[in-house]
Amino acid sequence: MSTTNSPGKHRARKRFGQHFLEPAWVNKLIAAVNPSTDDTFLEIGPGRGALTKALAPLVGRIVAVEIDRDLAAALPAQVPPNVRVVEGDFLHVDLDAVLRGEQVPMRVIGNLPYNVASPILFALLDAADDGRRFVDATLMLQKEVADRLVAEPGSDDYGALAIQVSLLARVDRILTLPPGAFRPPPKVTSAVVRLQFHPPREDVGNRATFERVVRGVFLQRRKTLLNALKPVADSFSRSASELIERAGVDGSKRPEALTLAEMARLARAVL
Ligand code: SAM
Repeated sequence: MSTTNSPGKHRARKRFGQHFLEPAWVNKLIAAVNPSTDDTFLEIGPGRGALTKALAPLVGRIVAVEIDRDLAAALPAQVPPNVRVVEGDFLHVDLDAVLRGEQVPMRVIGNLPYNVASPILFALLDAADDGRRFVDATLMLQKEVADRLVAEPGSDDYGALAIQVSLLARVDRILTLPPGAFRPPPKVTSAVVRLQFHPPREDVGNRATFERVVRGVFLQRRKTLLNALKPVADSFSRSASELIERAGVDGSKRPEALTLAEMARLARAVL
């Protein structure tokens, strides 16, 4: 499906989450990024190059990965030679191959397609290599996702996303943008967040086990931890009360009150 309100021949493709940033907002976003001529950037989804064209003169290099074949083909003629456009799905490209020979650590920027923003976030956390490959990422997201990313324990938005991300990155909200900041306008409000990648803040034991525990208990966030933990404890052939005791956490708390450190202890108790 395409919409018709785009200038030129290309029509915005809904399936790729295409909402192009209006010029008035480009400079605000670039100023928030605070780029330097020493920086190399990875851009996810350059689209028609709204951010790419503004950023390129201010930085060393940009590698831009775009899924839309037509946009990826049109962009190189519109940007300076320090931009390399790669056609591909960011979730499936071989990042090692795409970034081979590029300076590390690099920085990341992206006005993300909202339909795949969470998988892209997790892919970035995995690929950041504790800040050795990616220093930071400035990302445009649906505001609701940004709210969940920056949420503190005890708040309604706090959950698996905040905990998993806080293990590997500090997150700050930078800007909030109305639907009118884009063409075509999305149905939702948007927000820009900055992730600064760092080594794991806690020893979570096995990362996959940690993710299963975190996601599992938040499926039942209104129950007490003791009850919310039962299904996931069963899936590891453990008892919830044994895990809670070994982890030294309060089983009468709700999952949404648990800190990263407490979740890490619960996950380690499984091993
Ligand atoms: N950066 C442009 C801007 O700010 O105007 C476009 C932003 S638009 C919200 C998202 C862009 O990501 C589109 O160009 C879309 O084609 C591209 N895109 C969507 N899914 C992608 C994926 N999996 N990998 C790479 N690019 C993707």
